[in-house]
Amino acid sequence: MAHAILSASGASRWLACTPSARLEEQFPDSTSEYAKEGTLAHEVCELKVRKNLIEQIPTRTYNTKLKKLKENELWQDEMDKFTDVYLEYIQELVHSYSCSPAVMVEKKVDFSQYVPEGFGTADCIVIAEGTMHIIDFKYGKGVAISAENNPQMKLYALGAYLEYSMLYPIEKIKMAIVQPRLENEASESEIFVAELMDWAENVVKPLAEKAYKGEGTYIAGNHCRFCRAKATCRERARMNLEASKFEMRAGALLSDTEVGEALKMAQDLAKWAEDLKEYALTESLKGKIIPGWKAVEGRSVRAFKDTDLAIKTIVDSGIDEALLYERKQLTLAQIEKLLGAKQFKELVGELVEKAPGKPTLVLETDKREKIVNRITAEEDFNDNYEEEK
Ligand code: SF4
Repeated sequence: MAHAILSASGASRWLACTPSARLEEQFPDSTSEYAKEGTLAHEVCELKVRKNLIEQIPTRTYNTKLKKLKENELWQDEMDKFTDVYLEYIQELVHSYSCSPAVMVEKKVDFSQYVPEGFGTADCIVIAEGTMHIIDFKYGKGVAISAENNPQMKLYALGAYLEYSMLYPIEKIKMAIVQPRLENEASESEIFVAELMDWAENVVKPLAEKAYKGEGTYIAGNHCRFCRAKATCRERARMNLEASKFEMRAGALLSDTEVGEALKMAQDLAKWAEDLKEYALTESLKGKIIPGWKAVEGRSVRAFKDTDLAIKTIVDSGIDEALLYERKQLTLAQIEKLLGAKQFKELVGELVEKAPGKPTLVLETDKREKIVNRITAEEDFNDNYEEEK
């Protein structure tokens, strides 16, 4: 499918850094394995929603189509479970209405009235009782995406509103992102039509015009993460190098405030350094000279050229075959897969416990609850006792 220069998915970038869309054109739009995996999961989602909420697809036809999708080399069984979460979300929404809502899937939406050549594909649109719902499925598990003030979702909403407002009365738009591999709950937000149209006219339209012409000021930030120019963009380099000029205060040790500030800088610098490294490696492998650097073979591990033949040769020499193998228990997830969720729950469901995860440091904006080590009365007593000795 053709890509719009000012796509909805790239909107957070070209709205913040208007010249980025044209700068990106110099770089190939390569599709990663993750993106292909996402496309497959979206196809499964579409099929499930069509069958359950839109069309009377005969079970046999549905099974044949699903089987074909499962033959894709990127298929994983968990895809079934995660796409079911998306289907259930939409089913619950549809059934929450007493009337029968209009449901559309994989709908191309056009917002070129506000964004030159702008269009996108909304995963699912549900309209009922003056409310339009825009539901987006994300299969990624890298970064949790919030629906709150999300330009991609708002552009889908804009395109869908322009398309359907002649057919249905719409006052409010509710947007939801279902990202089941990362979050149990969908991220939701809502906007009134008047507010959306004001944003489209006064924010999107002027910025999109600049972006289409490649005009404006380069502004680096979090949105650089998915920019195709991210490795060699001068503005991003400037921002990172500028940020690294850490202002040193007096005293031999950093204060906790300084540790917090330095960590934030280090995080951005580390991401930028990774992008530079990846770029330099790719270019070096193409034969280009990146002064001061070269590509070499990394460490590798030894392996048998023909494992079966190697094992046979060892066994034939008189070594007991049992010594060459270790008996290994399957993991909990593998056993559950083997037995099926129902039998697993019946047999050993009560024997399963979930230990607390290993403490990890995240930015304070992270949604997870803060944890601290709880000191037991006994530990407290021992500490005080040691101090007093
Ligand atoms: S890397 Fe960032 S600053 Fe540079 S063009 Fe892309 S979005 Fe703009």
